[in-house]
Amino acid sequence: MFEKILIANRGEIALRIQRACREMGIKTVAVHSEADTEAKYVKLADESVCIGPAPSEQSYLNIPAIISAAEVTDSEAIHPGYGFLAENADFAERVEKSGFVFIGPRPETIRLMGDKVNAKNAMKKAGVPCVPGSDGALPESPEEIKGIIRAIGYPVIIKASGGGGGRGMRVVHTEAALLNAVIMTRNEAHVAFGNPMVYAEKFMENPRHIEFQVLVDEHRNAVYLGERDCSIQRRNQKIIEETPAPGLSPKLLDKIGSRCVDACRRIDYRGVGTFEFLFEKKEFYFIEMNTRLQVEHPITEAVTGIDLVQQQIRVAAGEKLHIRQRDIVRKGHAIECRINAEDPYMCTPCAGRITRYHAPGGPGIRVDSHVYHNYMVPPYYDSLIGKVIAYGDSRDQAIARMRIALSEMVVEGIMTNIPLHLDLLHDAAFLRGGTTIHYLEQMLAQHNKQV
Ligand code: ADP
Repeated sequence: MFEKILIANRGEIALRIQRACREMGIKTVAVHSEADTEAKYVKLADESVCIGPAPSEQSYLNIPAIISAAEVTDSEAIHPGYGFLAENADFAERVEKSGFVFIGPRPETIRLMGDKVNAKNAMKKAGVPCVPGSDGALPESPEEIKGIIRAIGYPVIIKASGGGGGRGMRVVHTEAALLNAVIMTRNEAHVAFGNPMVYAEKFMENPRHIEFQVLVDEHRNAVYLGERDCSIQRRNQKIIEETPAPGLSPKLLDKIGSRCVDACRRIDYRGVGTFEFLFEKKEFYFIEMNTRLQVEHPITEAVTGIDLVQQQIRVAAGEKLHIRQRDIVRKGHAIECRINAEDPYMCTPCAGRITRYHAPGGPGIRVDSHVYHNYMVPPYYDSLIGKVIAYGDSRDQAIARMRIALSEMVVEGIMTNIPLHLDLLHDAAFLRGGTTIHYLEQMLAQHNKQV
């Protein structure tokens, strides 16, 4: 096992990884920007290195600074967390070439799956069902583009092949709007992802977002740890996740889960990963694979009793997976609410000092957060300030516990989306379960109209 791991991230996930390491007796190195110098998890790490000024381009995305920090601290491995450099194949390559272990898949795999056109092709070959769409990237010729989209049928969604984080997507309802949308998405993709390639998919009107967690070792042992329903989203970003997905047939879930495991073996996958699907009219359609730990991993941990971060570290160290598929027994129900520093209904970020903070507790409640009384939420990064995870024997119990937890939680001095979560936790459609990915946006639109 590693003796020392450098954590190339910040916030709640940096703390989560640090806790896993400490439990395993591994020393940790926190790298941080000038904006995070005072953060408690930075002080809790065995060592810390400032890697640059507040803007992430100069710190958390600064590859040479992170590699130097690993060198000066004699770290053996680098954990990228999620976001920032977690799915950057060049970073993974630089880490390995510099003699460190990258805690994640091989750089080639990240590169393959990071290009959504290639990823879809690889999945099709592996027998994983995909959203119908263009066969690869859209060509240059306007006439050819129009022909391809007519064959798919409107509405379509134009997506950047190199896109991520819910960005680089545009829905098109009519041919009149098509070419402009393609050009705009290409330009945006070029600037944001350095890759102007775009492709088209059938825009699914009422799907749910269901994803499968996988865990794979170096020796081709692969398991899946069930699904997560992440349909409660706004601006293509998840707000609430739960597992199991309400109302889905275990047999169908099992079939798709097994396909994901097969696909992992085929692409020689290593580490933890997530296959994301849209689910409509009883069918699953693959949209993309995330080659990293997900924000919502704790709900899977809650129902399986498996620590995904520790498993991720073990397989990165070359250990053989000791968990077999038949050993994975899922019990109960878990829900995660992402607590963001933002206006609950307009969803605009709102940084600032937390003047009063009280975290909830009680049976079945887990809080993953790096914030505390008097913590300053910096304006430079993602607005996620923590996650509350509620576990119960049943969905009803998990929801009841989450309501209590969020009503106890106190975050003052900044706005958070806790009121929106509480609305959802009392909303009839959410309580029935099985809402689509458009549900929250519709609910927000309704709310904002009434105000
Ligand atoms: P990203 O990598 O940016 O997260 P994804 O491909 O995973 O992009 O899509 C993010 C979200 O966008 C999905 O969860 C879903 O809400 C929406 N979306 C993506 N593709 C489609 C589609 N074909 N039809 C309808 N919605 C889609």
